[in-house]
Amino acid sequence: MSESKRILIIEDNAANRKLIGGHLQRSGYAVQEAEDADKGIARALAEPFDLIVMDIQLPGTDGLTATRLLRANAKTARIPILAVTAHAMRGDEGRILAAGCDGYVAKPIAYKEFLATVATLLAVGQAATE
Ligand code: MN
Repeated sequence: MSESKRILIIEDNAANRKLIGGHLQRSGYAVQEAEDADKGIARALAEPFDLIVMDIQLPGTDGLTATRLLRANAKTARIPILAVTAHAMRGDEGRILAAGCDGYVAKPIAYKEFLATVATLLAVGQAATE
């Protein structure tokens, strides 16, 4: 088997991190976690990741601001970012994509759809770097 794709989950809720991480690990991905944006950004700058799952509602630096910071840094600018948010309100998807996220999944997460979106974004990201 080829080397596992590396995914960073930035999510403040421990139960959600465990749930999201469990689904990703069972799908064969290598998962790391961060509980807030500052730790997540530091981790993303220190190690290579193939995809970032970004909670939008975070304490301190929120997920949209964190996405803009990652996009502004050459080291992390091209990593696909999949946003997850409880606020499935009209206009949210536009704001999320405008901030630089590549995709959007509303909570509660439908995991079949979530994992399909992860696979799609990883494929796009791989094509972009080859
Ligand atoms: Mn949150």
